[in-house]
Amino acid sequence: MAKIPLVINGAPLTLIRSRRRRRTVSISIKHPGQILVRAPHRVPEHDVASFIQKREVWIQNRLRRCQEALDFQSKLRQEETWPFLGQATARPTAPNAKKWYRRQAAAYLKQRTEILATKMGLDAPPIKIDSAKRRWGACNAKNILCFPWRLMMLPPEIIDYIVAHELAHIKEKHHGPGFWRFALTAVPSLASGRRWLRDHQHLYADLFHE
Ligand SMILES: [Zn+2]
Repeated sequence: MAKIPLVINGAPLTLIRSRRRRRTVSISIKHPGQILVRAPHRVPEHDVASFIQKREVWIQNRLRRCQEALDFQSKLRQEETWPFLGQATARPTAPNAKKWYRRQAAAYLKQRTEILATKMGLDAPPIKIDSAKRRWGACNAKNILCFPWRLMMLPPEIIDYIVAHELAHIKEKHHGPGFWRFALTAVPSLASGRRWLRDHQHLYADLFHE
């Protein structure tokens, strides 16, 4: 019979039994590499164990990504650099780093939006810079594009992919074939942009809480 592991790849596993009306078992990975499993009281131990067993590859993957993010961040701290347009840059000081990124973002993203909109045959829409942490861009119902100041950390070609992606939403609200065809008119390789984000965005997700 399967048993609930105490540790997976060196990360401790904590099981929380809930009395509330939770119906399903869930797994979350917390920094720095702690596994939290929540399960209703009435789910027997061997069912929880086999649930965990089936997701072991996923858990290992998430643990690896957590570790990579920690390593990336401690390297930046040691070198006293921050990422800017995909390069390491001296840590901005005045007046504070977040404001510095915001200022850069407002100017740079406005220009990229104008250039890429022209390529796509669109009028350049207004843009807003926000502090979103969980997404790199958005196109709202009024076709105003929102980008987080954090976007300025990524390489220029990835920023272009995200800007073109949001511009394409002005015409195509969903990610259908028409959407991708349209976005492709502005940036040559959408696939490599998506792949880069999939492989790297976890490094940037938790940088700089301030
Ligand atoms: Zn989209």
